[in-house]
Amino acid sequence: MNYFEEFGIKKELVKAITELGFEKLTPIQEKSISILKEGRRNFIGMAQTGTGKTAAFGLPLISLIDAGSRTIQGLILAPTRELCVQIAKDLEHYCKYLKEVKITAVYGGASIRDQISSIKRGSHIVVATPGRLTDLIRRKKINISTVKYVVLDEADEMLNMGFQEDLNAILELTPTDKLTWLFAATMPKGIHAITSKYLSDPYEITIGEKNAAADNINHIYYMVHEKDRYKALKRIVDANPDIFAIVFCRTKLETQGIAEKLINDGYNADSLHGDLSQNLRDKVMKHYRDRSLQLLIATDVAARGIDVNDVSHVINYRLPDELEIYTHRSGRTARAGKSGITISIANTKDMGKIRQIERQINRKLVYTKVPGGVKVCEAQFMSFMKKIQKVEIDSEEISKYLPAMHDELKDIDKDELVKRIVSLEFNRFIEYYREEEDLNIDFKKKDHISPRGADKKDNSMFINLGSMDGFNTDSMQNYLMEMTGLPIKVFERINIKKAYSFIDIKGPHMPDVLDSFENEVYKGRRIRVDGSGGSKKSQPRSSNSFSRGKRGVYGKSSRKRYKN
Ligand code: AMP
Repeated sequence: MNYFEEFGIKKELVKAITELGFEKLTPIQEKSISILKEGRRNFIGMAQTGTGKTAAFGLPLISLIDAGSRTIQGLILAPTRELCVQIAKDLEHYCKYLKEVKITAVYGGASIRDQISSIKRGSHIVVATPGRLTDLIRRKKINISTVKYVVLDEADEMLNMGFQEDLNAILELTPTDKLTWLFAATMPKGIHAITSKYLSDPYEITIGEKNAAADNINHIYYMVHEKDRYKALKRIVDANPDIFAIVFCRTKLETQGIAEKLINDGYNADSLHGDLSQNLRDKVMKHYRDRSLQLLIATDVAARGIDVNDVSHVINYRLPDELEIYTHRSGRTARAGKSGITISIANTKDMGKIRQIERQINRKLVYTKVPGGVKVCEAQFMSFMKKIQKVEIDSEEISKYLPAMHDELKDIDKDELVKRIVSLEFNRFIEYYREEEDLNIDFKKKDHISPRGADKKDNSMFINLGSMDGFNTDSMQNYLMEMTGLPIKVFERINIKKAYSFIDIKGPHMPDVLDSFENEVYKGRRIRVDGSGGSKKSQPRSSNSFSRGKRGVYGKSSRKRYKN
């Protein structure tokens, strides 16, 4: 028996996936197919994107479809249009020799009429975004009361995107005896709510660690001043001439701005964000997919579900506020068993976040120096040499010009000629990098630590919050722990006044504490702190100070999710 058939995969499917180049099942496929093909259990699969999830649920689902009936039997919900289209396309490829199984994708931003007629023609599997499906249900254009299998793909993303209510409403309309197969890369609280309500006695598998980034990703970070972020990004690209990357920004504005700057500076870049029309987004994605675009600058929402293989680097232009987003971003590289690199451009205020990410993914983010001019020039040189070795020569076409070329260059010897060709390519880089400074912050050096209270032991800190803001000693202590991530014992002798308070900070933590409040606001009021014990207005402090960051960023008081 063929290797795939031993897993109970139908002959027709085996033929199709073999043609697609599958030689072995991926770990998640091995584990899930044997369970799912039985069609008896609810199922939870924890796995990163790019691990072969689509075939893991797609192959058994197709096998379970009764093509003789014209009802919808399989319903796959996915967070984005892109993912929906991709899943439907993959399933159609698997069904190359099972043409009787009909698949329809329904998602926003495309003609609802076409989707309705496709459903009317008869569909066994519907792949849908929750929003569009809800719309179709409201218009009474789809009947999901016959569904036997519901797949929630990237369920965590669907919740992140605010689809909880839609999901509940949809699941309520499916029969109670249907089976639900849920896939997610992370396990936010909302998922537990869904699993406990809709997935009785599920079979659970985890591929890799929960909330962990894939093993084959190298995680590194650079440490630069805020003003040097963009320069650092250019260095990354210049030092990796063959880069094929997604650069993540936090807002649409930043995404657009960075893309424009890169384009102006001669890089092969474009932006992908929610303000672009669907048409434009499709165009950008097409260019990126066929690799005529090298750098995709994207927001998290727009880049969800991007399934492009061979992305060499994921670059966090800024670290995200939510830890889970780091994992999702990283999952865009190292797909289908390949390896990849996630580079985060950080400044000293990000140290707290970096440590928390490390704890969560159980991997070290390796501090690495931003490549300097020499490294960049070396990399460019090597890449140019490779290009020379690989270039295809159209001898016939070129031979026409050879006599004239020989004549023109007859006074230049070979060595000189090579130097000149290389200079043509390199002068630009050498010129640019001759004057370029080292972008790295030596953040472990003592003189970069904020001088305010840095080398004193215990210190008194002033903060412009007091009883009129509702604080008492306990709540102030909790608030300080929350904001700084430091333990309770650091905060002693809290003296609450009406409009301000004094707190003794134990040990050498004053710089960390002060940094934690930089640019912070409490109930609309700018927080002022001072480490000398006086009530002076806080001064701008060196951005180089080594900050622990705020537990609140990822912790229980996590800030409002940014929207884009
Ligand atoms: P997915 O996680 O389903 O998006 O799959 C990621 C990529 O891996 C897609 O390009 C799939 O076509 C590919 N893939 C999935 N399973 C296998 C397999 N068993 N062998 C080779 N490639 C696979």
